[in-house]
Amino acid sequence: MVMETAVREAGRDFIRDIIAADLEAGRVTSVVTRFPPEPNGYLHIGHAKSICLNFGVAQEFGGRCHLRFDDTNPAKEEQEYIDAIERDVRWLGFDWGEHLHHASDYFGQLYEWAEDLIRQGKAYVDDQSQDEIRGNRGTLTEPGRDSPWRNRSVEENLDLFRRMRAGEFPNGARVLRAKIDMSSGNINFRDPVLYRIIHARHPRTGDSWCIYPSYDFAHGQSDAIEYITHSICTLEFEDHRPLYDWFIAQLPVPSHPHQYEFARLNLTYTVLSKRVLTELVRRGLVESWDDPRMPTIAGLRRRGVPPEAIRDFVRKVGVAKANSIVDVAMFDHAVRDYLNRNAPRRMAVLRPLKVVIENYPGSAEELEAINNPEDPSAGTRRVPFSREIFIEQEDFMENPPKKFFRLAPGREVRLRYAYFIKCHAVVKNAAGEVVELRCTYDPETRGGNAPDGRKVQATLHWVSAAHAPEAEIRLYNPLFLRPDPGAGGDFTQDLNPESLVVLPGCRVEPQLAHDDHDGAFQFERQGYFCRDSASKGLVFNRTVGLRDSK
Ligand code: ATP
Ligand code: MG
Repeated sequence: MVMETAVREAGRDFIRDIIAADLEAGRVTSVVTRFPPEPNGYLHIGHAKSICLNFGVAQEFGGRCHLRFDDTNPAKEEQEYIDAIERDVRWLGFDWGEHLHHASDYFGQLYEWAEDLIRQGKAYVDDQSQDEIRGNRGTLTEPGRDSPWRNRSVEENLDLFRRMRAGEFPNGARVLRAKIDMSSGNINFRDPVLYRIIHARHPRTGDSWCIYPSYDFAHGQSDAIEYITHSICTLEFEDHRPLYDWFIAQLPVPSHPHQYEFARLNLTYTVLSKRVLTELVRRGLVESWDDPRMPTIAGLRRRGVPPEAIRDFVRKVGVAKANSIVDVAMFDHAVRDYLNRNAPRRMAVLRPLKVVIENYPGSAEELEAINNPEDPSAGTRRVPFSREIFIEQEDFMENPPKKFFRLAPGREVRLRYAYFIKCHAVVKNAAGEVVELRCTYDPETRGGNAPDGRKVQATLHWVSAAHAPEAEIRLYNPLFLRPDPGAGGDFTQDLNPESLVVLPGCRVEPQLAHDDHDGAFQFERQGYFCRDSASKGLVFNRTVGLRDSK
C-alpha cells in the first residue's frame, strides 16, 4: 500500500495545501465546497470522510459548504433517503446554513444549456437503445462507432428533444448525447448521455419532468451555478474531470469550478458500496439501514458510536491521492479511545450467576461508585448492594487452572465498590451445572479495601439480584468474515453467521433503567454499550469491546 498519506503536519493534506495556496495567490477570495450525495441510499462511513473534508476545509478557511442533493434519477431516489442524509450530516456535527441545494433546482437551467449545446451542433438525439449505445462505445483499446443518428440537423434535434421533454416517447426510446469524439482515448468523451427519458415522479419536482439530466451533465454545472471553488470528489471521477471542464467551456456558466480528487475510504471487513448495502437491506440480510452491524452513519449511531469518534477517525486516516485500505481495528480504536475518556461507567452482568452472601445481615445498602475514573467531574452514583447478587458466570471456576485468578472455592475476591467475598460452597442443578455460589463477606472491607492490607487477585463487577432489572444485550461482531468481502464473487458467502449474538436475561445496574444519557456507557470489564433506540424495553447494543479481540 502506498503510504503517501497526507498527514504531513497535523491536519494538513494536499487539498488543504491547494486551498491555502489559492487563497494566498488571490485565485479565490473565499472557499466554497459542497457535499453532493445522491439520495439513493443511506450515508456510510466513507461518506463521512467526504463530509468531514468538505465541511472541515470550509470551516478552517472561513468559507462555506453546501449540502447538495444530486437528485437526477427519480427511479432510484426517495424522500426517506433525503431525510436520512440531512439527519446524518447534522448528527456528524455539520451545518449547511442556508445552503441546502438540489440538482433538481437547476433542471430548468440545465435544460436550457442542453438546448444551447444542440444549437451549437454539440449535442444530438440518439434513437439507439441503451444496449446499442453500450455496444458501440468501444473499449479502452478500440474506438467506438458513430451512432447512425449522429448527424441529425439542429432543427430535428431541437424538435425531438422538445418532444422528449413533452412526454411523447416512452422510457428508453431516445437520449440526448453530447457530440464529442467516439474515438477519444477517454471513454467519457465518446458522446456521453446528457438526458434520458424517465417517466417517474420526482420527490421534489413531482411530474414536471419526464426527462432527467445525467449525473455527468448535472454535476459540474450545478457546481458552477453555486460558485463552488473547490469541487472535491473521489478518484473514480478523475477521468470525468476533462468532460466536466469541456461542458464548462461550452456553456455560459456563471463560474468555473475546479475539481480535485482524493482516495475514497476503504475498510477491512466492511462493504462501502451503496449497491451492496441496498441489497443487504432489500434481501433482509440485515434488519434495516440502521442495523447496528451496518457501516451506515445511522447504524453506527444506533450502535452507540459518537460523532466525535467518527471525526477523530477520519482525521487520523488523512486525505491521500492513492487508494488504500484501512484496518477496521483503527476505527474501533478511535471509538474506544473517545468512549474511554467520556463514557459513564455502569455495571451489567451479561451471563448471570447467583451469589448468596450468607453472613450479610438485613436488607440492603447503597454504595458509592465512580462514574468515570478518567473524568473526575463526572462524579459518583449510588449502587444498591444486598445479600443476593449476580456475578458473571465466567468469573467463577470450580477447578481453576493455574492462571485463573478470579473466584473459586476457598478463594477471596473483591466486588467492585463493595466488599471482599469468599466462596465456600457450590450449588449445582440436576445436570451438574453450577447455578449458585455460597459466599461470605468481610464487613471490614466496605468500599473494597481491607484494613489489614491483605490483597486479592481479582476485582469483579456485580449487580444486586433484587434491584437489577433484566435486560437484553446484543453483541455485534463483524458482518463479514473476510477482510475483503465479496472478493470471491458473492458477498453473501462472506456473511458472518455470528454477526449478532443476542443475550436475553442479562441483569443491569438499576440506574441504567433511568439514565437519560443517550450515548454509550462503559459496562465495567465488558465494553461499551448503549440503549437500543429502536426498542422499547431495556435493550443494549454493544458499541465496541474494551480491547481489540484479534
Ligand atoms: P454511488 O455508487 O451510488 O454513486 P456513492 O457512494 O458514490 O455511490 P454518492 O451519493 O454519489 O454515493 O456520494 C456522495 C459523495 O461521497 C461523493 O462525492 C463521493 O465521492 C463521496 N464518497 C462516496 N463513497 C466514499 C468513500 N468510500 N470515501 C470517501 N468518499 C466517498
Ligand atoms: Mg457517486
